[in-house]
Amino acid sequence: MENIRTISFYSPMKATYPMKSRLLLTLAALLACNLSALAEEVVVYSARNEQLIKPLFDAYTKESGVQVKFITGGEGPLMERLKAEGQNTPADILLTVDAGNLWQAAQQELLRPITSKTLQDNVPAHLRDPGNTWFGLSVRARTLVYNTTKLKPSDLSSYEDLADPKWKGRLCLRTSKKVYNQSLVAMMITEHGEPQAEAIVKGWVSNLATAPFPDDTKAMEAVANRQCDVTVVNTYYFGRLMEKTPKLPLAIYWPNQNLSGKDAGVHVNVSGAGVTRHAKNPAGAQKLIEWLSSDKAQNLYADSNLEYPVNPRVKPDAQVAAWGTFKPNLINVKDAGSLQAQAVKLMDRAGYK
Ligand code: FE
Repeated sequence: MENIRTISFYSPMKATYPMKSRLLLTLAALLACNLSALAEEVVVYSARNEQLIKPLFDAYTKESGVQVKFITGGEGPLMERLKAEGQNTPADILLTVDAGNLWQAAQQELLRPITSKTLQDNVPAHLRDPGNTWFGLSVRARTLVYNTTKLKPSDLSSYEDLADPKWKGRLCLRTSKKVYNQSLVAMMITEHGEPQAEAIVKGWVSNLATAPFPDDTKAMEAVANRQCDVTVVNTYYFGRLMEKTPKLPLAIYWPNQNLSGKDAGVHVNVSGAGVTRHAKNPAGAQKLIEWLSSDKAQNLYADSNLEYPVNPRVKPDAQVAAWGTFKPNLINVKDAGSLQAQAVKLMDRAGYK
């Protein structure tokens, strides 16, 4: 979707116009030129799709008068494009999902650090870059979903417990190729150290009922079809599936709630944004990211994808709130990026396809 365009004003003036009309036309043209110069614009490269971001940007334009132009695409191609364009890029903001991707963007020097009291106040410290190049804007929880005709909540406890031989042939997982699972395993390396994290992943692999699935929804459908008892997914996929087929015997379970160490809490990740290194309008870009973290924009941002607001003062959507509250894991999500390569190798050694 490419809708970056330049607007030029052209006013043909014919010599046959009377003097007064000509003067009026000239004034109108001058006014138009000035207005066009004044209309500030921010350009966003977004890995979040148009349907999720357009209502937000429209609301921002309505409130601020600032035009927001955007291109949507996969995070890989967008980052490649930013890199290739270098200082000629029109992009002021990169908006994408998963801290693993945001970390990669910072690592490739595609983002610039910014100082913002607003973002420090609105975004909890573990959900933003300690180097201030990117900031989480919505929270996604990667949790357990189980078949309610096969399990009781008391049968479940933690991600780590799913490595126990008692789950043999009862676990379904999404492929390790997806960044979500790479991030999950990266965080487990921080929590447990590499050897123990590897033992856990090996345990998961030996408990699989079937080969890993290409997406979270297919893994949940296998649980609903009794092919396995439990899986690990992002809650918004659960929300979408249950909206479509509310009778499925599936429920959410919040793991690791009774722990107090580094492994305490549900694994969370973010969608987020940063100001590009070569932004033409860095001040405008920062203002837009700050606005996205504000109370009034947060529901619009999170609810449209059944995610959680990142701003702790904002309540989630009613459908999301109905899943109950949970204690999140508090390790900085940047580890999802810094340990990603290690996690990929670990999953490969563990035979997690
Ligand atoms: Fe997703």
